[in-house]
Amino acid sequence: MERLVVLGGGESGVGAALLAKKQGLEVFLSDGGKLKEKYRDVLSHNEIEFEEGKHSEELIFNASEVVKSPGIPDHAPLVKALVQKEIPVVSEIEFGARYSSARFVAITGSNGKTTTTLLLHHILKEAGLNVGLAGNVGKSLAAQVADGDPFDWYVLEVSSFQLDGMYEFKADIAILLNITEDHLDRYDYDVSKYARSKMRIAQNQDENCWFIYCLDDPMTLKIKEEFEINARQVPFTLNETKLNKSDQESFSGFATDTQITINPNKNPLIMTIQELALQGKHNLYNSMASGIAARIMEVRKDVIRECLTDFQNIEHRLEHVNTVYGMNFINDSKATNVNSTWYALESMSTPVVWIAGGVDKGNKYEMIKDMVKKKVKTLVCIGKDNSKLIEAFGDMVTIIEVDNMRDAVYNAYKAGEKGDAILLSPACASFDLFEDYEDRGRQFKEAVRNL
Ligand code: ADP
Repeated sequence: MERLVVLGGGESGVGAALLAKKQGLEVFLSDGGKLKEKYRDVLSHNEIEFEEGKHSEELIFNASEVVKSPGIPDHAPLVKALVQKEIPVVSEIEFGARYSSARFVAITGSNGKTTTTLLLHHILKEAGLNVGLAGNVGKSLAAQVADGDPFDWYVLEVSSFQLDGMYEFKADIAILLNITEDHLDRYDYDVSKYARSKMRIAQNQDENCWFIYCLDDPMTLKIKEEFEINARQVPFTLNETKLNKSDQESFSGFATDTQITINPNKNPLIMTIQELALQGKHNLYNSMASGIAARIMEVRKDVIRECLTDFQNIEHRLEHVNTVYGMNFINDSKATNVNSTWYALESMSTPVVWIAGGVDKGNKYEMIKDMVKKKVKTLVCIGKDNSKLIEAFGDMVTIIEVDNMRDAVYNAYKAGEKGDAILLSPACASFDLFEDYEDRGRQFKEAVRNL
């Protein structure tokens, strides 16, 4: 009998275990840390064998296949040993999709994945499609497949860590939003390794599939050349002149300073930028990418228009928290890399007191120096080690160091004046002082409310 071992007992791991059980495989789940009580209950209830707080090699190395949670890096000794033993290691989406008869829109990129995934899901649902949501947002794909695979389509948010364990998965529609330096600690500090991982979104696609990508993203254009893409390719851009005639005939999109246009040559969808629910340059890309995918799926233009207009912004992404003494407090805790912080600063139209810092993932601050010079007056550093931030910006802005969110917000508030934006956009991961980015964002909001 086939024995599936699942490494990691979070949402995706438990989902994979449930599906394996349903498929009649022998299944064992192993988590090096502590399981959440709800997951422990689910496993027990479904009579799935598991262990926590350790990885027992004798129970793992006899697997015929392993599903690895994205949180466990490829360079973990256990994973290396599995690879050496030639035991296939796959991700939960690979495993879940194997048993699903649905079709998939898979969305990846360094930034904008969650936003675009939720936006597209919103459009497709409003259009009346029978569509589910999975991947990094929402419930595990495998769990939903185990639960009767109820959808015709899934919109999947797929990280590079998931992609690394994907081999047979085919995206009917793939969206690659952008590739900028992130997670380099997991890719031997080699950005092309990370970029290649992102391109796996297009593997197995055939000429009936679609590959939607950003024509303004140099890294995407460069890495795309290394791969044979069989899908129909659809670019989007902020520069119409980059589109050639054939692009214009195939659902492409472009935005100007005043409007976005999708499918310019055939029955175009044109919207003014003011109409869009999600503001900021980066969101033009996200709106275009979702709109294009929806048009490919034959969603009516008026439905797309309505959804791009009424979409509710999501927590922790340039979320306006409150105005206190004329200062606008903005929670962009989800900005965990330098590129997303660039876009956050870019979208600020007033002077900024900027709260940043946390766990450095190999950040290169060079690319935001000009933006910081232009917009930021004070930088409040909130991290255990702020040396890289201080080195990068110490000579251009006033710097304050703190080690908790209450002090960060209080000091930012003291440093600000009427009309300023107080922006939490950390450019770093959160694990030194917080549980995760959501915890960081919530603490920020609480501190603002307590001012
Ligand atoms: P992800 O799921 O890829 O981490 P999110 O949709 O959660 O991305 O957005 C995270 C942050 O990245 C946002 O707060 C915003 O500052 C920035 N961002 C969103 N979309 C884009 C984009 N298309 N390009 C660059 N930055 C973006």
